[in-house]
Amino acid sequence: MIGSFIFENLPCRVVFGSGTLAEAKAEVERLGGKRALVLTTPQQEAQGKSLGASLGPLYAGIFPGATMHTPIDVTTRALAAMKACEADCVVSLGGGSTTGLGKALALRTGVNQLCIPTTYAGSEMTPIVGQTENGLKTTVRDTAVLPETVIYDVDLTLTLPVSLAATSGINAIAHAVEALYARDTNPVTSLMAEEGIRALAGALPAIAARSDDREARTEALYGAWLCGVCLGTVGMALHHKLCHTLGGTFDLPHAETHTIVLPHALAYNAPAVPDAMARISRAIGSPDASQGLFELAKRLGAKTALRDVGMPESGIDRAADLAVTNAYWNPRPLERNAIRDLIARAWAGEPPVAVKTVA
Ligand code: NAD
Repeated sequence: MIGSFIFENLPCRVVFGSGTLAEAKAEVERLGGKRALVLTTPQQEAQGKSLGASLGPLYAGIFPGATMHTPIDVTTRALAAMKACEADCVVSLGGGSTTGLGKALALRTGVNQLCIPTTYAGSEMTPIVGQTENGLKTTVRDTAVLPETVIYDVDLTLTLPVSLAATSGINAIAHAVEALYARDTNPVTSLMAEEGIRALAGALPAIAARSDDREARTEALYGAWLCGVCLGTVGMALHHKLCHTLGGTFDLPHAETHTIVLPHALAYNAPAVPDAMARISRAIGSPDASQGLFELAKRLGAKTALRDVGMPESGIDRAADLAVTNAYWNPRPLERNAIRDLIARAWAGEPPVAVKTVA
């Protein structure tokens, strides 16, 4: 039965397909841009330069210094680059790190963004930017940082290594999983969530089997878009909080941490969210949602233990303390010892189990 709900449609123009990068110049013009600064990571600089060449007279320059966690000092240097080339819009080409830099610039200058994602992180669909200064990560939610236009070009994702496609894809699935049991869940976002999980869970094994499977790459990017919309339109819960805490405290890699933690966080919440569990099971084609997601990660060859991505065993108790420090909404109340158990299992790479309520 459908009850009352609020659904806020975030304004963003989406151009999706193969070869859509060729639309970049027209899309910059559509935004009224006359001088575009291209943003990339150092690894994607060459790709950024060739995009710049395709922009012709609209190309103002490139800043190839985007890096993980959007450090403030990098944003300061990018602001100087913007000023030096008199840019009036930015074109970010890359994963969540590059998108984050474009958002940080928009937050400070109000500049229009054309975003061209090349991973499945989904940041391009959210009004959220996380920034770091002196090792501390803070998150800002402001519609000013939402990119005006997004070009999804499947061709750009063909170079995404299979291992990164796997973890980035499960990172996207995590947005949709938590959207299905969000406090402000609504039937429209849930439709996108289930469809996003279905598309990615089907496509990722096909990509792992043949990395140039264009049809699977298309399905995966479509799924990532839907999952990104979920992240942008409803609030997240335990899983995202845990990953944020673990990533920030132990400097763990973003997408891999999401991949390892997701089955365990879901197993924790399972008793409180039977409808979400049923929808996730249906979307991934597995009788048990958390077990099915664990199996999926293993099948994709992804790491399944936090100890294998650099978390010390001594950090388990600290992470459990931090996870319950600042109260936040979760469908199942936060129980410190049960959360410690789930972190310990994720640390060791054990399969998820429904964690018992500790009195
Ligand atoms: P990333 O952007 O850090 O990219 C990882 C590496 O892969 C980089 O070296 C990049 O250049 C390279 N790469 C990207 N696409 C490629 C491709 N198609 N082919 C070859 N190499 C490619 O990784 P990510 O997982 O996309 O983003 C993680 C960051 O995004 C984190 O800092 C996270 O906090 C942030 N994020 C933010 C939001 C939000 O809503 N604010 C949402 C999701 C993620």
